[in-house]
Amino acid sequence: MSDAAVLPSDAIRPTAAPAAPAAPAIEFVDVEKHYGDKTVVNGLSFHVQPGECFGLLGPNGAGKTTTLKMLLGLTAPDAGTIRLVDEPIPSRARYARRRVGVVPQFDNLDPDFTVRENLLVFGRYFGMSGSEIEAVVPSLLEFARLESKANARVGELSGGMKRRLTLARALVNDPDVLIMDEPTTGLDPQARHLIWERLRSLLARGKTILLTTHFMEEAERLCDRLCVIEEGRKVAEGKPDDLIQRVIGCDVIEIYGPDPQALRDELLPFVGRMEISGETLFCYVDDPAPVHQRVKGRAGVRYLHRPANLEDVFLRLTGREMVD
Ligand code: ADP
Repeated sequence: MSDAAVLPSDAIRPTAAPAAPAAPAIEFVDVEKHYGDKTVVNGLSFHVQPGECFGLLGPNGAGKTTTLKMLLGLTAPDAGTIRLVDEPIPSRARYARRRVGVVPQFDNLDPDFTVRENLLVFGRYFGMSGSEIEAVVPSLLEFARLESKANARVGELSGGMKRRLTLARALVNDPDVLIMDEPTTGLDPQARHLIWERLRSLLARGKTILLTTHFMEEAERLCDRLCVIEEGRKVAEGKPDDLIQRVIGCDVIEIYGPDPQALRDELLPFVGRMEISGETLFCYVDDPAPVHQRVKGRAGVRYLHRPANLEDVFLRLTGREMVD
């Protein structure tokens, strides 16, 4: 009897070659951009895998919008390579953009058109026929929770509704990748939560999302990974929880009072690291007890003991508060 006859059938089946890893949906390698003698993006490298939500964070002027513009082929890099949906950018940007939806920082909907008309007009840009667009409009309206507003003019919509319409419009060509510049800036908390919920439903459908944001809570809730940039350079990259652990790694006590400097001097022997931002003293503590003992019940002083969050990471890395 041959060896093959006594082996379980799986053992003699040729093993399938391992699947090749999917090409990144977005790839930046050593990208630079200069305006005059100013370096705006400085050796930036990162990649976003299909199905990931990736956040680009940084203070104003860090180079986030310039990075998105280069990604879409709207401005050319001075060095480095960029790929979007596995196409080289900017040379094949026109082809790549067919598989990409864009949500710009400021809504550029046509205020004189109705909700439905805005979707129809945008579909035309992608070369879709009237019947093709009509076929997807109901699901886009449902996605945006705007079914009852289909025939309302855009000028009549609330800020949250306009944002949801801009998001729905970006989906008209069923893109694989969504690129969003500050998707919830200017929205009230309720409208912001609804956008987050909609974005999570897109991620559940396997879409890839690259977003810039000013809101650390947004990044923490939505992003699988993120990259913090400052003056065009990457200063940190990773999963939100890993970054919080790696960069902060302890609890935070926020103390609000009239004289944060004096409080800092008093707590110096008990706290390894402190920062003052406005009226608030941030204490990074392994052992909170000595701080609690000293501030509890003190007149005019309030305090909050909490786990570290992404905002702490941002403050630590960029050394300042974000400015709107
Ligand atoms: P962010 O989106 O992070 O706020 P930007 O990418 O908009 O940052 O801008 C980064 C820097 O590049 C800023 O200092 C800005 O003034 C400068 N910048 C952006 N676009 C241009 C341009 N077209 N010409 C000259 N400087 C520019």
